[in-house]
Amino acid sequence: MILSSLAQRTNFAGPEGLSITAFRITALAGGVGAARFLRGLTMATRDDEVTVIGNTGDDSVMHGLHISPDLDIVSYTLAGIVDDAGWGISGDTTNALEQMGRYGIETWFTLKDRDIGTHMARTHLLAEGLTLTEVTDRIRTSLGIGAQIIPMSNDPVRTKILTAGGEVREFQEYFVKLRHSDVVAGVEFDGAATSTPAPGVLEAIESAEMIIISPSNPVLSIGPILSVPGIRQAIARRRDDVVAISPIIAGSALKGPAATLLPVVGAEATAAGVAGLYRDICGTMVLDKADAARAEQVEALGMKVLVTQTIMHTPADAKQLAKEILDL
Ligand code: GDP
Ligand code: CA
Repeated sequence: MILSSLAQRTNFAGPEGLSITAFRITALAGGVGAARFLRGLTMATRDDEVTVIGNTGDDSVMHGLHISPDLDIVSYTLAGIVDDAGWGISGDTTNALEQMGRYGIETWFTLKDRDIGTHMARTHLLAEGLTLTEVTDRIRTSLGIGAQIIPMSNDPVRTKILTAGGEVREFQEYFVKLRHSDVVAGVEFDGAATSTPAPGVLEAIESAEMIIISPSNPVLSIGPILSVPGIRQAIARRRDDVVAISPIIAGSALKGPAATLLPVVGAEATAAGVAGLYRDICGTMVLDKADAARAEQVEALGMKVLVTQTIMHTPADAKQLAKEILDL
């Protein structure tokens, strides 16, 4: 009782607090690739017209703290405080982690001091009874971010990796501790079947003039979002207004295991393979110049194609890419 009254008193933007009339562009987002693009998008348009639906399949509890890596990467990047690595806070220190190490605690998941402050706040507010939507909104407004950032679901949906050796791995164990070195036999989203989209998610999809699927890992970052019942169907109804940017360029990912995971879900490890996974929900595919020769293969799936420079070395590159997409 006390918990719910606190949530009311602090009056966070809940389902009814999210003003849907301002939504013009809705973007699905994983971590680093998405965040880079979104920084450009918010430079190319009014940031208060952008709503980000973030992946929470990577969420986990570490040292008792609720970590939402992809939501934080997007928030820190849009706030202009992200570290050069693409995650964490610029100039942060590792005192807490070093101290934990002295007690023999495993420290393979790098959590720096200020970043830990975010996770402590999130864990504390969740324990007070706030939803992840409310906590995420508190973080983004406190960091001065104009774009809306909403988790895909407030229910726990957890990505699990099934290895060829028959093991089931927690996502961060696979991704960070073992540096995605396992041969993967399958990917599962635990809890997805009984999850529901977070408040504002379906509204953001329905009311957007354009829906953008960021250049994120299709299996590990976009996959969990689409696994929440109702989200894939809602996006499919908007197919003509959906644009996806391929994270695969010339058959490789710029970072991470996206290319090796595509065959696990039956797709070719190319930009055309990504297009195939999105063909029911996406009308336009953005391919890198390096993949110009794949345009016909993607058009044969019934999709339009934009070929352009999609590698974002700088925020200016990201803004240019966003402008070209908005011009569609
Ligand atoms: P996470 O940061 O580990 O959560 O991973 P993401 O879901 O963001 O996926 C990383 C993907 O982003 C990889 O497949 C990269 O190839 C892709 N990516 C990263 N930077 C860029 C870029 O500048 N352009 C494009 N097209 N893709 C990118
Ligand atoms: Ca991620």
